[in-house]
Amino acid sequence: FGHITISRDITKRKEMLESLRESEEKFSKAFRASPDAIAITRLKDGLFVDINDNYTSITGWTREEIINHTSKDIGIWAKAEDRVKMLKILKEKGSVQNEEFEFRIKSGEVRVWLFSGEIIEIGGDRCLITMTVDITERKRAEEALKQKMEELRIAYQKLKELDQLKDSFLSTVSHELRTPLTSIKSFSEILLTYDEDKETQKEFLNIIKEESDRLTRLINDFLDLSKIESGRMQWETVEVSVAEVIKTAINATQALVVKGNLEVKTEISPKLPTVMFDKDRLVQVVTNLLSNAIKFTPEKGKIEVKARLLEQKESKEKADMVVVSVTDSGIGIAPKDHGGVFEKFKQVGDTLTDKPKGTGLGLPICKEIVEHFGGKLWVESELGKGSTFFFTLPMAKSAEMEVPEAEEIEEPVKVAITGKKTILVVDDEANIRRFLAHELKKRGYSVLQAPGGSKALELARKHHPDLVTLDVLMEGMSGFDVTAVLKNDPETKDIPILIVSVVEDRKRAYKLGVNDYLTKPFKIDLLIEKVNQLLRDAQRKILVVDDDKNLVKSLKYQLGKRGYSASVAHNGKTALERVENRPPDLILLDIKMPEMDGYEVMKALKRRPETAHIPILVMSGIDIDGGRVKALSVGAADYFSKSGGFDQMFETIESILGGDAED
Ligand code: ADP
Repeated sequence: FGHITISRDITKRKEMLESLRESEEKFSKAFRASPDAIAITRLKDGLFVDINDNYTSITGWTREEIINHTSKDIGIWAKAEDRVKMLKILKEKGSVQNEEFEFRIKSGEVRVWLFSGEIIEIGGDRCLITMTVDITERKRAEEALKQKMEELRIAYQKLKELDQLKDSFLSTVSHELRTPLTSIKSFSEILLTYDEDKETQKEFLNIIKEESDRLTRLINDFLDLSKIESGRMQWETVEVSVAEVIKTAINATQALVVKGNLEVKTEISPKLPTVMFDKDRLVQVVTNLLSNAIKFTPEKGKIEVKARLLEQKESKEKADMVVVSVTDSGIGIAPKDHGGVFEKFKQVGDTLTDKPKGTGLGLPICKEIVEHFGGKLWVESELGKGSTFFFTLPMAKSAEMEVPEAEEIEEPVKVAITGKKTILVVDDEANIRRFLAHELKKRGYSVLQAPGGSKALELARKHHPDLVTLDVLMEGMSGFDVTAVLKNDPETKDIPILIVSVVEDRKRAYKLGVNDYLTKPFKIDLLIEKVNQLLRDAQRKILVVDDDKNLVKSLKYQLGKRGYSASVAHNGKTALERVENRPPDLILLDIKMPEMDGYEVMKALKRRPETAHIPILVMSGIDIDGGRVKALSVGAADYFSKSGGFDQMFETIESILGGDAED
């Protein structure tokens, strides 16, 4: 009986031990194989008693470095307060579930762990078994996602604001456009309906003209601005001489200066480096500032345009910049309005009795242009004390070395255009052809007209005009097609082409060989200026090299009268530079010059294949013995003595180059 009991007890004990062993084994297997990092610490002394392999792999510490150490002496808690918090939760709830804590692993890196812990009893000791999952990457991804969302939210907000801005901008634009249009419409209706006297007719026509000008300005400004803002503006960055640009801008505003009885002075540093900019846009900026200065300065006022180098140490700029300023003695701008003048459609001081006409877009456009090239535009002014507008522009990299001496700066070549020139006007709009023909004839040109591409080609081949003005959008052959044909035919390839079009595709046009570009609507004065410039450019270029400045002046004058475009150099070194930058068709060369004499210049030119072909006429002061022979042997085309007058030399030039430019 008892035996049975005993044996049953033994069996039971055996079973119990067996199952304990089994569950221990299971536990141990789970402990080792778990994808989580598991650690067991004894609560009474805080020592690690066991860890699984994953624990060592995610912490970087070895088993030996952890077992029998406390978390404190390993320094595994990144924040002491996290550990305190964990113990507190454990005390209150008996366990810790999925808390996020920061741990510092062996490499020193701080990781985020999702942490759970339970109390268990092992060998009579209360122990804490913890399980951790590294969620650092997940946290980072979450953080990045949050940031993206925030960025998106901001972008959306901006878009919404922009949309509202655009709405108000559009309504301002349409208002601004409608105002002049309304005057044009009503005054032309009056003129068509009623028989007004001559005086009144003229007055109304004047209003119509003024309002159309204003409309044109508005459309141009508006297009410019939207092109810049949408990134569709085609910029042509080249090395530009600021002095030259200022001169062009002053010429363009000359009529207004005279009308306002104003005085314009310039002060340009003699050694001003060139800048990298879009030349036409730079002219636009200076012209705009200048015409504002003129507009807002009462009669007899003074305007000053200055340009100088702004050295790096003078400003916070990263590199040296050129600073241009336009100062006037006009009405000035109150400091509170300084920001406003750069805003679209903002015209400050609206209370002025005779409010000057403008678009309110000029300065915002200037600002966009200047900032596109990395410069800044700002104003210094006080009410009633005149204003100064400043802007900076980046200096060209190569400019540092090649600064011409102040006295060597070439004046713009203002040679006469000799002989009656013929211009072919190509446009499919009869009104535009008529208008252009009228304006060109008025200025002494003879004009041929073609309504389309094929007629244009026919006339160009037959009459060989001196210049073509060419529309782009035409039925059949486009202006670009016409350009391609003309520029590929040796007979017509030298005829300068001026595109006059609403289409703005300068890149393509210049690639095809177009010589200049004008967008419609255009100012007739600008068109005439471009025509004249192209005709001048087409003339033969002669470089005069002599250190006798008076002689050079007189030669330049005489060559200009004969229809050549002459540039000058006062010494051999400059001469070589000039030839490199703008190869002439012929060179007049003095022999006796300091430093580098004429023979050396000639040798240098003949050595290089690009310049070897340029004909050189040698001029010599005194007929040195054997000078002629020597000059010819070095490669001169001919030799003249200065003492004998220059008639013969001019004849020779004519026989080499041909008297008329384009032949
Ligand atoms: P607008 O076509 O009206 O001249 P801008 O954008 O060029 O447009 O100029 C905006 C406004 O800034 C002008 O209407 C004028 O009120 C003010 N302003 C610009 N230049 C000057 C100046 N030199 N002197 C005084 N006020 C000026």
